[in-house]
Parts: sequence; C-alpha cells; structure tokens
Amino acid sequence: MRKTKLAAVALAALSLLSPASSRADGARNVIVMVPDGMGLADVTATRIYKGGLAGSPLSFETLEHIGYQRTYSLNSAITDSAPAASAWACGEKFNNGEICLHRDGRPVKPSVLELARRAGKATALVATSTITHATPASFGAHVVNRSCENEIARQYVETTHVDVLLGAGTGKFNAARPDACGTMGNFAQEARNAGYAHVTTREELERAVAAGHRLVLGLFAGDGGMTPEYLRTAATTEPRLPEMTRAALRILERNHSGFFAMIEGSQVDWANHADNYDYQLGEMLAFDEAVAVVRAWIDADPERKEDTLLVVVADHDTGGFAVNGPQSALLHAGQKVEPGWTTGEHTGVDTIIWSQGPQSRRLARAVDNTDVYDVIVKALD
Ligand SMILES: [Zn+2]
Repeated sequence: MRKTKLAAVALAALSLLSPASSRADGARNVIVMVPDGMGLADVTATRIYKGGLAGSPLSFETLEHIGYQRTYSLNSAITDSAPAASAWACGEKFNNGEICLHRDGRPVKPSVLELARRAGKATALVATSTITHATPASFGAHVVNRSCENEIARQYVETTHVDVLLGAGTGKFNAARPDACGTMGNFAQEARNAGYAHVTTREELERAVAAGHRLVLGLFAGDGGMTPEYLRTAATTEPRLPEMTRAALRILERNHSGFFAMIEGSQVDWANHADNYDYQLGEMLAFDEAVAVVRAWIDADPERKEDTLLVVVADHDTGGFAVNGPQSALLHAGQKVEPGWTTGEHTGVDTIIWSQGPQSRRLARAVDNTDVYDVIVKALD
C-alpha cells in the first residue's frame, strides 16, 4: 500500500519536473494568418521592394518551419477560398463555394474555432474583406453557399458567438433583403443586445479596447471591403490590418484560457485578380506588418512563445503572379519588379506554409491543406 503511494508520489513529482515536454505539444493560443491568394512570387516582389534583392526577410519568412500544401478542392483542381479555408477549419475537402458544410447533407466536424471556444478560449476573426467573406466564414459558420453572407453574420452572433469580429460588411449585419439562404435581419443590433461593443472607426475600436471590452463587433466599411492600402488617405478612418491585429490581441489576451484567432490579408487576392501590382504591394506590406505585430506580441513573453501556434499560409495562389524582370539589372529598396500574371483567376499550385510553436514541425513538409486542421486540433488538445 505504502509502496504504491510512494510510486504515485514519485510519478507526480516526475511530471512536475518535466512540464515542458507536455506543454510543448499543446497550444494555449492558436493564430492562423492568411494572405489570401498569395503566391511565392508575391513574397519575392514585396521583399525586394522593402529591402532590395539582398534585403531582410519579411516577418513571416523567418518562422521556424517552412512547408507547402496542396490546395485542390473536392470538385476542382482550382479551389476557391471557401473549400480552401474549410479544409483548414473543418479538416476535409469541400466543393467550391461550400463553407464547412456539404450540399449532400453529410455531417461535418466542428471548426477549429468552435473547438477552441468549447475549450474556454476566446475567439477572433479579422479580415480586410467583409468579415462574412469565405475565409473568415469557414472558421465561424456552416453554409453550403459562400454568398449567404447575412446567414454567416447571423451564425457568428447567434450560434458561434465569435468574441471579436473586425472587418467590413455593414450591410451583412443589417440586411433588409434576404441572401441566397433566405436570411435577413439586424444582427448588429442583436450583437449589441448580447453585449458586444459595436465600433465603426479606428478611434472607436481603440476606445473599446481601452475600456476592456471582450466582445467587439468592428464593421469599418461596407460590403465592398475595406479601403485598399494604396487608396487610403489621411482622411481614412478605418483601422489598417496591423492595427486591427494589435487590437484583437489586446482583447484576446484577457482570456486566461488562451484564444484562437484567424487574421486575413483578404485583398492580396483581389489585387492579383485585378493584375494590379501597386494594390498587391500595399496589401502585402500591410500583411507583413500584421505578422510583425503578432510576432512582437509572442516574443514579449517566453511563455507565449512556447504556448502559441502561429501558422501563416495562403489558401491558394491567385493570378499566377511572376517576377519577370528586370532581366539585366539589380533591384534596390523601393524599386519594383517587372510584374506578370498568367491568369486573372486562381491557379492550382501549392502554397507555402510558415509556422512556429506547438505541433508546427508537422507542417515542415509537403502536406495537404486538410493536414493543417489536424495540426491545429492536436495543438488545441
Ligand atoms: Zn482565397
């Protein structure tokens, strides 16, 4: 009897001595950052513009692990953002247009955001598109058609209860006409009734953060998305992506059980659809800044570094963007490459994954996009 008790005490002491090994496998915080539609050439061009050919890496390039993922969807070699993000969020292939829900009614798993919430963690979605757009929606809603953005807004507020929502999409949260799912309603009012601070400018967001709000609905622009970086002026009252990122972290860090956040540079994709290099460059630089904000937050505390899984991954390439020149000259900081695009649509190439933190070594190889889900679930376990 006494011997058994001693053995138990010894075992307990051993586990106390080695908390690092178990903690290293689990993540208190999970942050997924998505430069939508970013290919490797976008990275090259942005890095050159920032620091020249031999310049410093972008903020996500120096994460500990680098791998790449297949992006195809259930019904197409060329994915759209809906099944691409749903593969990460819900762990399986979906048809183009589907947001973590199958048209044939097959059951789906809860999203990683929902799993995090069940574990008592705070949750956030941040984007420069409508916050009800396909990428954020895949983490916080289940609909068979990505254009059901009113329904996605409704689910955020009524079903998923995402704590922090920052992006565009005023009309989706106060919809007088039904969407493709037949949903309409004033979900911003519902959110306010449920205790959300509803903010519409950078200043209001900063005030809500300073006031200690834990539930924040930030809708800073209409249904066309937030103002692109290259079109912003001194009069623009919308927060930039790095500012929304910082605000989200300050709100989320108040939860002692940790958090899940998805932060998207949504318009890298739109810039590549438009074959617009200045647009792409602005969005890429802002995304890079947002990653720097996250890394500074992580590096401010050694425990955060050990407890935070950070994954930076593009959902697909858009445009087949390439660095075509100059053919016989160098490039220095502030100089632009000669850009080219092979298409105005998405392409089917693999995309890079940069990561660090618990479980991230499993992303340092060639994987499928659904494997990202497995890694996040293991880290949340
Ligand atoms: Zn996309």
